[in-house]
This record gives sequence, C-alpha cells and structure tokens, in this order.
Amino acid sequence: MSWTTQYTASSLLQSGSDMYALIERLYPICRSITGNGLRQSLAILREYLPLEVHEVPSGTQVFDWTIPREWNIRDAYIKNEAGERVVDFRKLNLHVLNYSIPVAGTFTFEALKPHLFTEPEKPALVPYRTSYYQENWGFCLSQQQYDELATDPLAKYEVLIDSSLEAGHLTYGEYYLPGQCEEEVLISTHICHPSLCNDNLSGMAVVTALASYVSRLKNRYSYRFLFIPGTIGSISWLARNEEKTPHIRFGLVASLLGDSGPFTYKKSRRGTAEIDQIVAYVLEQSGYAFQIQEFIPYGYDERQFCSPGFNLPVGNLTRTPFAQYPEYHTSADNLSFVKPENLQASLEIYREVVHLIERNRSYLNQYPKCEPQLGKRGLYDAIGGSNDRKQLQMAMLWILNLSDGEHSLLDIARKSGIPFDLIWKMAQILTEKSLITSK
Ligand code: ZN
Repeated sequence: MSWTTQYTASSLLQSGSDMYALIERLYPICRSITGNGLRQSLAILREYLPLEVHEVPSGTQVFDWTIPREWNIRDAYIKNEAGERVVDFRKLNLHVLNYSIPVAGTFTFEALKPHLFTEPEKPALVPYRTSYYQENWGFCLSQQQYDELATDPLAKYEVLIDSSLEAGHLTYGEYYLPGQCEEEVLISTHICHPSLCNDNLSGMAVVTALASYVSRLKNRYSYRFLFIPGTIGSISWLARNEEKTPHIRFGLVASLLGDSGPFTYKKSRRGTAEIDQIVAYVLEQSGYAFQIQEFIPYGYDERQFCSPGFNLPVGNLTRTPFAQYPEYHTSADNLSFVKPENLQASLEIYREVVHLIERNRSYLNQYPKCEPQLGKRGLYDAIGGSNDRKQLQMAMLWILNLSDGEHSLLDIARKSGIPFDLIWKMAQILTEKSLITSK
C-alpha cells in the first residue's frame, strides 16, 4: 500500500534559514518507528518533494525482523496530589518512553520508580529513551524533576499514558528521480526520533533540500532518497527492494548535520568505493575541519546497507558523530543546538559530493601511442589566454597520459594536484577534439 496524492507545491528549500524553518515545523511532532507522527512529518516534506509514502502492514516479515504494531500517543502525564502535571508530554514529547504501552492509575513514588528514566550526569536534561521491541511503559525526566518527586516517598501520583499499540503500518517516504542511466545514488535519512533536532531533523531538512536541488539538475545517475525509521525502515526497504540493490553505485546515510562539529565521514564497508574517494576529496578541498573513519558495524542505517549480504557502497556523512556530543539523545538537542549556517555548510558539502558523482568518469585516449600532436588540433587555442592556461595545459597532459580506462578524473586530479573542476573542464575540451572518449 502506498499513497501518492497529487504533489503541487514547489516550495524551494535552499538556504540554511529555510532548512531551519522546516526543522521548527517538524520539531513538535512526536515521531517513532511507526505511527501518525511519521505520516504528519512526511506530509510536511511533501510540500517540497513528490515523495511516495509507503505503508508496510504490522506483522510483515522483513528478513529476520517483523514489522511491529503501530504506536500512537495522544497524551501522557504524571500529576501530583494537587492535580498539577509535574511531568507533561504536551510540554515535551521526550517525557514519554517512546513506544510505551498505555497505562492509567495512581502510584506511589516507590511504585513509579522503575518506570522513571533520568540522566544523572546531566541533571537538567531529559533523556530520550525507547522500548520498541520489549513491552514497557515509562517517563523520561530530568534528574532535578526526579529528585523533587523523590522528596516525599509516600506521595501519590496520578499517571496516564494515553497511547495505543495496535495492528497498523510502518510508514516511510521515498523519492526516486530517474537519470540518464539506471545506476543509482542512494541517500537515506532516519525520521523516527521525536523532538530532537540534530539527530534526525537536520538530516531530514538537508536531504529534502538536496533532493530538491538534484531534481533541478540534468542528472546522469538516478537518485533515490529514503526517509525511513531507523533500522526497521532500512531493513524493510531492503527486503522489499532487493532486486534494485545491484543498481546502487553510490550511497550516503545522512544525519547529524546541524551542529558545529567537524564533518565526519565513515567509509563504506568496502572502504575503497568511489563514494569513499569522492567524499574524502570533497572534504579535503572544502576548507572545513573533517575526519575520516574506517567502517565499523555500529551507527545508523549503513549497518543494514553494508551488511555482508548486501555490502553496498554506502558511507555515513555527519558532523560530530553520534553519542559524541553532550546534547545527544537529550532535550538539549533542541532548536538552539542546530544552526542555520551549519545546515547550509552541510548542504553545500552534499551538493559538492553530487557534483563530483555526476562528473567523475574514466576516459580512453584515442591516440595512446606517443603524444598526439596538439598544436594542429587547435588545442592551445581552445585553452586560450585564460588565467588557468598553465594548469589547463598540465591537465591536458595528465588526462591524455592517464586516460587508459583505469583512472578516473578524480584519480587524475589527485595525482596531478590540479583541482577536479579544471581536470573536468579540460576533459570536455579533449572530448570535443575527439582525443579521448568516455569509457
Ligand atoms: Zn538517535
């Protein structure tokens, strides 16, 4: 089952402040791995992209996993004896253990204690906790709130979690943009976190903006943008689309793109895939602080895309890696933690990656035995008197020498130290002059 209601809007999402405004709209929604929060969020993204929204029924087997029952929530609180909401889902949806079963009753503090989750080392912050695959209920609160409740162990509290856990669907969004060839670029982001800005919403905003940008290009590759709940979403997509995976030539899992930390690229399991080379090159040239890490089987959905049965060329491009900033998975990952300028820089890096993916290719020198005579073909005139003249001449020699079908333009840029864009520009001239042909 999927819905594809008419897409009409043509809102553009280009600047950091546009993306930030989108995050502000998505922030209050209580998302989870299933439920209406996902549908509402995807409906907002559909103002920007003609997303196809898929609904996978509860109970569906996806490899070793089963789509869980759908979770929805309307309200939740802990009230003191004066009837005041001392913990209130309506103020902050992180207060409910995500996927809590419904509960209503009166509890002493002692009875409530096993259902309260805090982060004692960050006493002012509310932690984000989930219990998707084990039935439980609970509240997340700051250590300060907890200590206040604990002052009177005999006090009674009225507790309500007005949630439901019923047969329904898992919802995800997909935007497929056909290119000149069937080979694909897969960009995936998770959408299952409630009010958390960097972890989740920054990825949703940057990927939406990127997809909107790519849709305005004449793209050589086909692009597939996935907006999916973490883990179970990528497993579901892979289980339902296994036949498409051989077309995936490049892939990135996008998340954590609104903080001011250094860019971090975690390589694909393959380690030397073209995407690994391209992202490394873009980061090196960007002028931003960055780090590159080897693949580890822990993190986001690259864990599924890079499982041994798929081993897809999919890396993970973030700012500060998950769990390595103090605001991670707490109420402090909020609207003041992400910044428009960081979103903007992240989008620029992703656009640059797309730019290289589109332009990188290998060529074959049509005159590989000794150097062709360049003067008689008007090559020097083609270069003209531009400022880049010297570099273009060197680029010409490098391309002719390394266009053996084995080296890509990116390899040539690396070996020669000449910027990729100049190498690419020269390759266009040499193609026009029929000295090289694309492989
Ligand atoms: Zn997370």
